[in-house]
Amino acid sequence: MRTEKSNLGFGTKAIHAGQHPDEVTGAVMTPIYQTSTYAQESPGKHKGYAYARGKNPTRNALEKCLAALENAKHGLCFSSGMGATDAVIKLLKPGDEVITGNDLYGGTYRMFTKVFEPLGIKFHFINLHDAENIKQYINNNTKLIWVETPTNPTMQIVDIEACSKIAKAHQLWLAVDNTFASPYLQNPFSFGADIVMHSVTKYLGGHSDVVMGALLMNDDQLFEKLAFIHNSCGATPGPQDCFLVLRGLKTLHLRMKAHCENGRTIAHYLRNHPKIEKVYWPGFEDHPNHAIAKKQMKDFGGMISIVLKNASLEDTFKIASSFQIITLAESLGGVESLINHPATMTHASIPKAEREQAGVVDNLLRISVGVEDIDDLLWDIEHALS
Ligand SMILES: *Cc1c(COP(=O)(O)O)cnc(C)c1O
Repeated sequence: MRTEKSNLGFGTKAIHAGQHPDEVTGAVMTPIYQTSTYAQESPGKHKGYAYARGKNPTRNALEKCLAALENAKHGLCFSSGMGATDAVIKLLKPGDEVITGNDLYGGTYRMFTKVFEPLGIKFHFINLHDAENIKQYINNNTKLIWVETPTNPTMQIVDIEACSKIAKAHQLWLAVDNTFASPYLQNPFSFGADIVMHSVTKYLGGHSDVVMGALLMNDDQLFEKLAFIHNSCGATPGPQDCFLVLRGLKTLHLRMKAHCENGRTIAHYLRNHPKIEKVYWPGFEDHPNHAIAKKQMKDFGGMISIVLKNASLEDTFKIASSFQIITLAESLGGVESLINHPATMTHASIPKAEREQAGVVDNLLRISVGVEDIDDLLWDIEHALS
């Protein structure tokens, strides 16, 4: 986009940032540059593109758009969210330590404990409900604080600003997995984060048709390091997927408003339902960190978890399987509503004792509220619960 106006709104950036009509044909949409390599005039003399693992124009447009949405200087797109997280941990070396939450996304926990712990990196999984807890785990080997907020699936809120103050005082990097909130609801750089990670698969793609990850950052040196890992290790996405995400982003602001509105209605409905014991949603005033959620989020999103009253695993499975509009599936953030049983699906890789300590009990279900008509969703929930 070529405009002299600064301070563009979120929706304008979602539609235009990083993109402009094609110089040759005038094509309004960024083409899918389905090529692995680029012609060179003489060895090393090219138009800035040599090999597509390093750079691809469709991917570059997307990286610029995502950076704009997070108010960041740099962006890198990865072949998955886990690929993006993997690159951050590769900034570290054996002996280094990471402080992180005890209710992380299951795949992140699995990577930290099963891939990187054996390589000599130490992880402290702690309660981040009060960021002050971090301090007692900091020593000379600590390099990184890795935070997820809201957390998955119990919607705990971590105070990003409080974490960043501690990180800065001890010269640590603060990385925030911003997948659940999306940049529409929460911009961790405004609260002092150094790296923002997204599973683009979720709200950013928004249509459950792409697996992708992204890292955003402001610091040039940090960008150089991560870009080096990105190109060296090679977890880069293809141009077709980048095109699909560019298309998905154009409605991110519209979708997020609808997710929040439906989420709010469903959260209140479930809370008053006799078959529900507990509803996790950061928008409730009595949510333990509601004030922090209000400070750092624009609204509360469409992710809700519920604990069914007096339900065995069997009862829970039965209810999870009896929805007609809401689909039983892993993942979240798409236009369609999904329901998930974390204990046996997304969080099965976490040992039972640890899982239950983090509130992921057998009768907990997580709903990714989509943007269907609210009356139909409420009908489906009422029908399944009865
Ligand atoms: C899905 C998810 C990831 C992993 O992303 P993939 O794109 O599936 O690799 C990481 N963090 C959170 C919070 C997620 O929901």
